Amino acid sequence: MFRDLFMCQRCECIVVTGQRNHPRAANVNHKVPHKESEALFFDLNNTETVCQTCHSGLIQREEARGYMIGSDINGRPLDPKHPWNR
Ligand SMILES: [Zn+2]
Repeated sequence: MFRDLFMCQRCECIVVTGQRNHPRAANVNHKVPHKESEALFFDLNNTETVCQTCHSGLIQREEARGYMIGSDINGRPLDPKHPWNR
């Protein structure tokens, strides 16, 4: 959280702390879903600061799909787990 300087790592907005229902409220996203794993839950390298909007929208869609949404300037998906990159 402090490491990310309160900036959303997805849309680069400045997150808001202390207001849980704010659209830019700070969230800690686990890049690899931690599910039952305590090691993943407490692994700082597996966390990033994101705003509430990104957390509830983009990332939950990513978790449902199983890969990161986003592409490079050529339109190729960034995530090596994307079906196009397999
Ligand atoms: Zn965001």
